[in-house]
Amino acid sequence: MQNIKRLFDINPWKISTTHLHKEELRLQESLTSIGNGYMGMRGNFEEDYSGDHHAGSYLAGVWYPDKTRVGWWKNGYPEYFGKVINAVNFIAMDIYVDGEKVDLAKQEPKDFYLELDMKNGLLTRQYTLETANATLVFAFKRFLSVATKELGVMSLEVKATAGEAVVKVVSKLDGDVRNEDSNYDEMFWEHKASSVEEGLGLLTTETIPNNFGIERFAVTSVMKNETNASLMAEEVTDFLVTQTFEAHVSTTESLSLTKKVVILTSRDVAQAQQASEAKELLKSVTDDFTTLLEVQTSEWAKRWALADVVIDGDDEAQQGIRFNLFQLFSTYYGEDARLNIGPKGFTGEKYGGATYWDTEAYAVPLYLALADPEVTKNLLTYRHNQLPQAQHNARQQGLAGALYPMVTFTGVECHNEWEITFEEIHRNGAIAYAIYNYTNYTGDESYVKEEGLEVLTEIARFWADRVHYSKRQDAYMMHGVTGPNEYENNVNNNWYTNYIAAWVLKYTAEMFEKFRSEATVSISDEELAKWAEIVEKMYYPKDETLGVFVQHDTFLDKDLMPVSDLEAQHLPLNQNWSWDRILRSCFIKQADVLQGIYFFNDEFTREEKQKNFEFYEPMTVHESSLSPCIHAILAAELGMEEKAVEMYQRTARLDLDNYNNDTEDGLHITSMTGSWLAIVQGFAQMKTANDTLSFSPFLPSIWNGYAFHINYRGSLLEIKVSKVGVVMNLVSGPSLEVTVYDQVYNLADTLTVALKEA
Ligand code: BGC
Repeated sequence: MQNIKRLFDINPWKISTTHLHKEELRLQESLTSIGNGYMGMRGNFEEDYSGDHHAGSYLAGVWYPDKTRVGWWKNGYPEYFGKVINAVNFIAMDIYVDGEKVDLAKQEPKDFYLELDMKNGLLTRQYTLETANATLVFAFKRFLSVATKELGVMSLEVKATAGEAVVKVVSKLDGDVRNEDSNYDEMFWEHKASSVEEGLGLLTTETIPNNFGIERFAVTSVMKNETNASLMAEEVTDFLVTQTFEAHVSTTESLSLTKKVVILTSRDVAQAQQASEAKELLKSVTDDFTTLLEVQTSEWAKRWALADVVIDGDDEAQQGIRFNLFQLFSTYYGEDARLNIGPKGFTGEKYGGATYWDTEAYAVPLYLALADPEVTKNLLTYRHNQLPQAQHNARQQGLAGALYPMVTFTGVECHNEWEITFEEIHRNGAIAYAIYNYTNYTGDESYVKEEGLEVLTEIARFWADRVHYSKRQDAYMMHGVTGPNEYENNVNNNWYTNYIAAWVLKYTAEMFEKFRSEATVSISDEELAKWAEIVEKMYYPKDETLGVFVQHDTFLDKDLMPVSDLEAQHLPLNQNWSWDRILRSCFIKQADVLQGIYFFNDEFTREEKQKNFEFYEPMTVHESSLSPCIHAILAAELGMEEKAVEMYQRTARLDLDNYNNDTEDGLHITSMTGSWLAIVQGFAQMKTANDTLSFSPFLPSIWNGYAFHINYRGSLLEIKVSKVGVVMNLVSGPSLEVTVYDQVYNLADTLTVALKEA
């Protein structure tokens, strides 16, 4: 078992600690990130901190194309890498006590307390400092408004429990920010305007010009500080606007300050109008922190009413799933169709781009059940809008059709490692699968009939061109690919890639036949015949003796051994082994064959599922955060309770327990759906194939029960699994047929079915 690192206490609704983790500040900052879908930031301190940490604030959809730098250029590489860029630091407030700067890297605070309340996204921090003349208690509060997404609100209170001091606060809008991952530590912003007028500080910056024809983003932030302290100075320089306040603090006099900031970007408001609109918006918002927080809490309460998963009897598991849902919704709640879900959301810079196959493969199933169907439709439309760019990506490789990118902002591929850019093409299948998933789950065929078929057809054309015919085997094959397991590259006939490619050809042809007369695409009979031939003669590596689908042609020739044979110090492999050693080993980064069995579950027998699971899981290191949930779901289906629970815990607490020792770079946002998938599709075995909603729940013996809601075809259902049995409530919407343990019921109000023994 790998080492885990847990900084925060166990609590069902809170992430809290009484320790300032100076040695682990980056990790602490990642775990206390907040966001509202429009913007977000790591849990940086308001006051200056001179120790090692990572300051990061990010605005959704605001990015910069950084020139691709590689030692050896390969034809087909993208010209730029799209980066999520660090934007204006608007929380900053330098604090001085009797002239000395507060800097927790150098000082030793007492009674430190840090808390992220998941009920409303409120981040609070408190500590006591013994200074030369006083004992001062500092209390900070901060949230990013869900009701007014352009608004961030902070408050500071300083009081003395002994002595007295002069406390100075320099409240800032600081535009002098850089990305840690920029090529040459360059600045991605240029100064446009800064001022302080009528008590409002204002700063406008714009992304620097680029050579790739990508739009530049102008960002204006306006701040207002409400305080009982005296205004001492207002200063304006390029990239920095400050208002300085001073107060005498004693046991009877405290300092309080509320800072409200509105941020507008040129994605929504043209630069020329930003200042006036931001000021208007700021003025229209009440100054009262408590009122603003009440609105925030009631907005989050609505989200929780639908999405909360309640686990009875295991607070660690409970905290894990709430943390994941909280961070996921802080990143994306489906309100803006131009946006997608980045693997690090607003919590870090790694992975750069905004969109990966993670969205379609891992996030879509959750949003289908926990949000209006429009949200998933927006995610599908996002890809449809990027079809021309996906066609461009295919041409870059000299191929027909469309190749959706591994990572992107615009649809144009941004990744520049050959084994991924050119070879990890299975990603294209997930885009098609999401169209199927939406159609199958919602029963709404209007999308696939129109936009969906356009996307499917072009993806199918890509596969038809990418396969080759082997005369020797009389079969279609795909050589030189990277499967989902990125710990092997340039393999031949990755079973998963071949399977999903053939499935896309089949599904596209089926949808085309179904909607032929209304379709906006045309596919010739000759092309359809070719697709059918590829489907029929697709080559799938298989081992009859082992009874498994073989990950790729030569996988079985490796030195096969279980991960349990490795000593703990080797893990995670990607931090301890050379890349060469990883590639040669049999160890699997994430679900690969099993990803296919998860997607196309009803196409396999129980024996096939079992044999493949038992063969591959022991060799899997789960070093992609996307891995444990797929294993939890399949283990649950196969009645392997212990494994299912272990995998659930790993997916649910991946970041909270820093399983992969990389959470300091940011949270694993796209895999945060995993704990929900593990409970709903795993423990409860919710399946939706073929217009049938079915469940086959089991209750892990370490839990007393669990409960969740799903939206399904206009009905809202509550499902409770406990020792009492499986209780289903129709909360709203029309009655519907539900299959529980293979028995069909009509759910009109409440249904109770005895829990089946494992
Ligand atoms: C995984 C990919 C994933 C990416 C972003 C990688 O580590 O192997 O499957 O798309 O992370 O989450």
